[in-house]
Parts: sequence; structure tokens; C-alpha cells
Amino acid sequence: MVEAVETVVVGGGQAGLALSYHLGRLGREHVVLERQRLAERWRSERWDSLAFQFPSWSIRLPGHAYETDDPEGFAPRDEVVRFLERYREVIRAPVRTGVRVLTVTARPGRARFLVETDGGCLETANVVAATGPYQAPVLPAAAAAMPSTLFQVHSSRYRNPGALPPGAVLVVGSGASGCQIAEDLVAAGRHVYLSVGRHARMPRRYRGHDIFWWLDLIGRLDQTVDDRPPSKRGPNPLVTGAGGGHDIDLRRYAADGMVLLGHLRGVHSGKLALAPDLDAELARGDEAFAAVTAMVDEHVLKTGLDALPADPIRAAPAGRGPRIDAPHELDLAAAGVTSVVWPPAIAPTSAGSGFPSSTSAASPSTAAGSPPAPASTSSACRGSGSSSPPCSAAWARTPNTSPRISRPRARGPRRLGSAS
Ligand SMILES: Cc1cc2nc3c(=O)[nH]c(=O)nc-3n(C[C@H](O)[C@H](O)[C@H](O)COP(=O)(O)OP(=O)(O)OC[C@H]3O[C@@H](n4cnc5c(N)ncnc54)[C@H](O)[C@@H]3O)c2cc1C
Repeated sequence: MVEAVETVVVGGGQAGLALSYHLGRLGREHVVLERQRLAERWRSERWDSLAFQFPSWSIRLPGHAYETDDPEGFAPRDEVVRFLERYREVIRAPVRTGVRVLTVTARPGRARFLVETDGGCLETANVVAATGPYQAPVLPAAAAAMPSTLFQVHSSRYRNPGALPPGAVLVVGSGASGCQIAEDLVAAGRHVYLSVGRHARMPRRYRGHDIFWWLDLIGRLDQTVDDRPPSKRGPNPLVTGAGGGHDIDLRRYAADGMVLLGHLRGVHSGKLALAPDLDAELARGDEAFAAVTAMVDEHVLKTGLDALPADPIRAAPAGRGPRIDAPHELDLAAAGVTSVVWPPAIAPTSAGSGFPSSTSAASPSTAAGSPPAPASTSSACRGSGSSSPPCSAAWARTPNTSPRISRPRARGPRRLGSAS
């Protein structure tokens, strides 16, 4: 039996829920399939001390805002989960959890897709992949060259300092994740080596407001992928909401005893080979900080907005720090390093989720016009462990009639073959 539904949304994160809100408002029949639990990324792929990086006043999804007594505060991870659960209730999203989409196949000549899951099959006119930009955490090649005695963990699996063996920790990468994890470790008394890469520092607050208040006002948060394609984007802003939110300042880290290193080039015989680029990266980070404060200053000047005066020291930190000498090599054993935390490098969906990205999103017009070539065969369905025949076999038995695209209707999924 193949269930028919007009639209299948794959993924029960914030994007899948927001889409469900809009489809629901338009009375469009749909279902949201989530392989684990609602908001799974926030439950099992974030560390304990993580707080939302944007202030609580900014947490809102279409039709529902986060309710809080502390709008300038930063919601802990569990609160984000609760917010998404509440959102699902409020918008009555038809989410089915514990249902993993295995393949999506377009049948030539039919304006339909076959969605094979580990819990059965659906036929649909539209599939939306709301699975997040990436799926599988990936360790870089250097991880394989690390001494086998080291404990290595990807940032999505890091939970807290107590989960690492005693000793110093090497954190690779100075994005928001790397810096927040490094701070978490230092707060627990760990000695940390931080390999610094490209980063864009920002003040947490500037001229009386959180930096995201300014970015929202200036319109930067409204930019779409078309406005700023990934190739034109710099690194993600270096911000934290942990501990009530504060600036992330790598020079301050060094002054407080963290050892900053250049880019990790490789690992040979238990020694790290490091690029001589720490100063250049710190200067770039400072320039990003100065650029964002200059943008705010310019906006205030142009609009005559009533704001606190600019702080010249905070506004122009470039070059303010002393040169930090970084080693070109680090003997891990001599440095007492027992663990490595790797940055959130992640593989695209097609690398391992079983949900092929080549057919992961489509619209009725795509389907009705020239259907994309099937990216998979029923073999993926056999991977579900189901003893029932592959979905595509059941599908093949249905007559190949002309395309039928479901019209908007406000009712639940129906089964093929039932009265329609
Ligand atoms: C460490 C870290 C911190 C972050 N902090 C913030 C922050 O403070 N503020 C912020 O705005 N953003 C933050 N982000 C980014 C934010 O997490 C993502 O932007 C957000 O989760 C994207 O939502 P989404 O719905 O697109 O995807 P996701 O949240 O990734 O949801 C996708 C869902 O799809 C499900 N799924 C995947 N494949 C299948 C399948 N085959 N079948 C069925 N279900 C499937 C997954 O289980 C998952 O639940 C952070 C990201 C990271 C890594």
C-alpha cells in the first residue's frame, strides 16, 4: 500500500516546521517526516553549555515567538528544544517522528515522486528537503595521522569537559563552535591549545544594543542566498550566548593562558605541523570586528538614530594586540595533550544519509515537466530491513496514467485506491 499525500517535508527541524506552518495556513495537505525526534540537532548534536547565539527577543518562527522574561538573554539549548516543541503544538504540524526517508525517486512520465521510508512508502507531488545543510560529521585527514592514544571527538559529539580524559586538549578551528568549546574547557580548568583559522570577530553588544539588533535594523539578516551567495560570504560571525553572552576575543584567550596556534598543516610522528599564520588570522579577525562596528557607526550617522556614542577602543581593535609568537611545531605528548576536538566540518547529504541530494527537492512544475532522473533504485529500500516488497515494486503495479497533481485541500493524508 502506498500512501498519497500532496507534499512530503523531510526533516523536523525549524525549517521543516516553518514550512509546515505556511502549508497549513494555505490548507495544503502535507506531512513532515523526521527520522529521530523533533529538533534532534538541538537535542543530541550540541554540547551541554551551548546557549542560543542570538538574543531571546529574536527567537521567532512564522506565527510564533519565544516567550521569555529576559529578552536580552540567551536561551539555553534545552529551551530551544522546548520552543520548537511548543511551536509544533501551536501550529499543529503533522509531524511523524522516527520515520527516516531512504530514497526519493521520480517516475518518468508521472508528476509524482515515490518516497521510500523505513516505515512505508508515500507517493507525492512535492518533496521538500528540510534536512539541514549537511548531515554526517566528518573528521579531516589529519585525524587519522594522530597518535592512536589520543581521544578524538567531532564537535557535534562533544558534550562537556568531563567526557574527555584528563590532560590538555587540542581544539582545532576558531569558529564559534571551536571557541565556545575552548571556553567551556578552560572554565573547567583544562589547558587548551587552539588552532586558529579564518574567523570574523564581532562585539556582542555595541552602542547600547546586541550586535544582532543592529544587523537586523540594517537589513543584514534579511539577505537571501541570492543576495549573498556562499562564495561571497566570509566566515560565520564569532559570537557566543554562553554565560549571558560576551565578546569572543582570541587575544584575551592568549593573555589568560590558552595557547594559540596557526593552521594545522599535518601530523607526523606525534607532532603537529603548524602554519606561521596566527598573526595574519588574528589581524583578519580584528578587521572584521572593525568593519561591523564601522557599519553600525555609518548607519547611526546616516539615520541620525539616537544611540550611545561609539567607543573608539572597541570600534577599532585592529592591530591593538601584541604579536603572539606561535610554535611551528607541537609535540603532542610533551605538551600533555590527551584529547582533540575537531571543528564542525560536515559532509553533504549525499555522503551518507541515504537520502540522495540529487532528488532531494522538487516542485510540482519540475515533476510535471521533465522529472529528474531517478537517483536511486529500490535497492535502497531493501536497506530498510522491511520484509515487504520494495515500494517501487508496489508503485510499478499502479497504472501509468497522466500526471495528477493534488489540488490544495485541508484534510489529512489519504491512501491510494481509496475513494477520492
Ligand atoms: C554547534 C551549532 C550551534 C548553532 N547555534 C545556533 C544558534 O545559536 N542560533 C541559530 O539560529 N542557529 C544555530 N545553529 C545553526 C542551526 O542549528 C541550524 O541553522 C538549524 O538547525 C537549521 O535548521 P533546519 O531545520 O534547516 O535543519 P536541522 O535542524 O538540521 O533539521 C533537519 C532535521 O532533518 C532530519 N533528517 C535528516 N535526514 C533525514 C531523513 N533522511 N529522513 C528524515 N529526517 C531526516 C534530522 O534528524 C533533523 O532533525 C547552530 C549550528 C551548530 C552546528
